Amino acid sequence: MVSREVIVVGAGIVGSSIAYQLAVAGVSVTLVDAALPGSGATKHSFAWIGRSAHDGSPEEKLRSLGRDHWYRLAQEVPDLEMHWTGALVWGEYFSHDGAPKTDRVEMIEPHLVMPPHQSEHRADDGWLDPVRTTECLIRAAQRHGTSVRLGSPVSRLARSEEGTVIGAVLGTEVLSASTVIVAAGTGSTALCATAGIDLPMVSSPSVLVQLQAPPGIVRGIVANDEFEARQSADGTTLMPLEYTGETSREDLRRTGEETLRLFQGSFHGASETKLKSVEIGWRPMLANGESAIGYSSVPGLYTAVAHPGIMLASVIGHIATKAILAQRQTNL
Ligand SMILES: Cc1cc2nc3c(=O)[nH]c(=O)nc-3n(C[C@H](O)[C@H](O)[C@H](O)COP(=O)(O)OP(=O)(O)OC[C@H]3O[C@@H](n4cnc5c(N)ncnc54)[C@H](O)[C@@H]3O)c2cc1C
Repeated sequence: MVSREVIVVGAGIVGSSIAYQLAVAGVSVTLVDAALPGSGATKHSFAWIGRSAHDGSPEEKLRSLGRDHWYRLAQEVPDLEMHWTGALVWGEYFSHDGAPKTDRVEMIEPHLVMPPHQSEHRADDGWLDPVRTTECLIRAAQRHGTSVRLGSPVSRLARSEEGTVIGAVLGTEVLSASTVIVAAGTGSTALCATAGIDLPMVSSPSVLVQLQAPPGIVRGIVANDEFEARQSADGTTLMPLEYTGETSREDLRRTGEETLRLFQGSFHGASETKLKSVEIGWRPMLANGESAIGYSSVPGLYTAVAHPGIMLASVIGHIATKAILAQRQTNL
């Protein structure tokens, strides 16, 4: 007896987007997380949504669709706020041949101390508050009947004698479903292994510095070879950094202080800025550098692991919903 059609393991931004879009399509869903929504990589994200430069990778098309699906979700989900601020980018990492250059830098980011001579303005890029958005999607999923189980680690996937995945084991309880979607971020490898699926990941730490700056200093997303920054209306400013081997709170504090000085030297009016927090987030990144979105070779098991997950969560929810509905037709 199937209690629910789908169990989604992981209430990060990816699992929440899937749960919401399935629920709207009339699928009965249980969303399970070991902790609170968004407490994995999602919580530490810079959450830049953009089309990205053309890098010719197979993921390029997916990233471009991610933005479009966020635009759609923001129109249909109450309280889901997108900040389409645009992004001003320059430097070796961000430049690419043929990109349109802007000569309006002083208008776009008037507080920059050293405005670049050559930069690109990606006017349709934006960002979102990742935890708030995750919570918003979950509330909307619940309004469409989704059941949510938090503080409930899934210890393994339940399988039939034939090997089909038929549910998820939470402590002593077994939840059953026709499909289990594993969207458990870095926890996905261990869970998939319990169904015999190999999903190796690389360790991919990244640091997020939060500053409290006077509001209005950074207008959109600013990104170059030295730093990336964006600011909320209340002045909270986020700067993501590559991980450089920090292993203690003291290391992180030092990194935060250096970043604070970099910010103060990069923007006029930033001298009163204070350091709020420095955290490490572990990004779910597969060892082969690709995404794992789709039914696995084990019947009943669907995986949803991809990078960059905030940008892609919207389109992953769409793809997963189409797949589940198609599977439902096959089972009729
Ligand atoms: C500093 C930094 C900056 C970033 N910047 C960007 C950016 O600008 N744009 C972008 O698109 N991406 C960015 N990313 C990456 C992005 O944050 C992640 O790709 C995304 O958050 C992954 O979401 P997720 O839902 O797949 O995983 P997670 O957010 O990690 O969620 C997985 C969830 O699964 C739960 N879970 C795990 N195992 C179990 C289990 N056994 N049972 C029950 N629950 C379980 C966890 O508790 C967690 O809540 C950044 C990441 C970092 C760290």
